[in-house]
Amino acid sequence: MPATGALKRVIAPLIDPVAFDFWAARVNPLLSWERPLARVVARQVTARDCVTLVLRPNRHVPPVQAGQHVPVTVEVDGVRLTRSYSPSHVRASHARRRGGRKDCLAITVKRIPGGRVSSHLCQEVRVGDVLELGEAFGAMTLRPDVPRWLYVAAGSGITPLMSLLRAQTAATAGVDVTLLYWARTRADLCFLDELRGLEKAAGSGQPGVRVHIILTREATLLPGEYSGRPSADLLAQLVPDLAERQVYACGTGGFVDSLRTLLADQVAGFEAEAFTLPERAAVVGAPVQVTLRRSGRVLDIPAGEALLPALEARGIHPKHGCRMGICNSCACDRISGTSENLNTGATQSEPGVVRICISAARSDMTLDL
Ligand SMILES: Cc1cc2nc3c(=O)[nH]c(=O)nc-3n(C[C@H](O)[C@H](O)[C@H](O)COP(=O)(O)OP(=O)(O)OC[C@H]3O[C@@H](n4cnc5c(N)ncnc54)[C@H](O)[C@@H]3O)c2cc1C
Repeated sequence: MPATGALKRVIAPLIDPVAFDFWAARVNPLLSWERPLARVVARQVTARDCVTLVLRPNRHVPPVQAGQHVPVTVEVDGVRLTRSYSPSHVRASHARRRGGRKDCLAITVKRIPGGRVSSHLCQEVRVGDVLELGEAFGAMTLRPDVPRWLYVAAGSGITPLMSLLRAQTAATAGVDVTLLYWARTRADLCFLDELRGLEKAAGSGQPGVRVHIILTREATLLPGEYSGRPSADLLAQLVPDLAERQVYACGTGGFVDSLRTLLADQVAGFEAEAFTLPERAAVVGAPVQVTLRRSGRVLDIPAGEALLPALEARGIHPKHGCRMGICNSCACDRISGTSENLNTGATQSEPGVVRICISAARSDMTLDL
């Protein structure tokens, strides 16, 4: 609100944001001088080990578009941890409004066994709790120039695609979207009833939403369900007009890599977002010395191990966001040494900027941290 903005500018020099937040939170946990916070207003189990949290953001949360992801920060055992989550639902008015009351967005979180943030969000967080959000990132957003879409999801990779599908079907009749949705078993599927409802809404012979479920570990398949890993044959069988479709794919690094190999030259366009690094990231070697210039610390870290989790495991918590090389929040100067980009396998020895979430040391190295 303009009045609030003007007042804030006038009193800003007199305010200590930390003290303001401390006292303001006693009145309303969403009140903050500048921190983007969101209150959990609903919680629903969406599938096995999977919970949807509906969030009401405060006025500092930047706009989010369907298909993007936001950093979510929580405190677990006294440590602040940040992970990215792609809202499974973004209300259009949230994307448009700046300031004033924001509409809700929802994140759907799959609990990873041993995963610190996903376990906390799925098992500990309750209605009324407050989470810290960050700036949204991601280029898998709606494009008006695309007539036919192919969405391909594996597991929790359904979230950004569900958000896109909800936004599309709410805005336009007759959208032409085929969704291929991979999961281990039927119990792991999210949003199935809603997806089947969207499918039914299109008359036969009309463009609309087509949903194909592919289960990799279900003993008995129902009519309309398929099994198997992504393959050229299965894709051609389920999507006869593959060549005319723009693909958005989302899942683990390995899933996305295999689809890119299968589809890149076969479709009208291919974009993907991976929730994990590709499997090749796991190749680690003998320890090298990583020197942190600012703190003066010298650490032994196995060559090939991603630097960000390696530093965190040693009690150092550098600034970061998506942990997948997308948002650049963790970029810092590599003063010396050779780094490997774990997404591409490329090595770099010239001094320069390195994103520590997707980089590993391949020699002794000095970072400006
Ligand atoms: C752009 C982006 C969007 C994302 N959106 C969502 C979303 O909408 N919903 C959602 O549930 N998750 C999403 N994720 C994954 C999420 O950010 C976390 O990585 C995940 O919740 C695990 O975090 P954790 O702290 O529980 O696990 P950690 O404690 O960080 O890791 C524990 C172990 O689990 C492995 N691991 C981490 N993530 C995964 C994964 N996704 N699948 C399998 N193994 C994994 C790690 O390699 C590690 O061995 C997204 C990731 C990215 C990069």
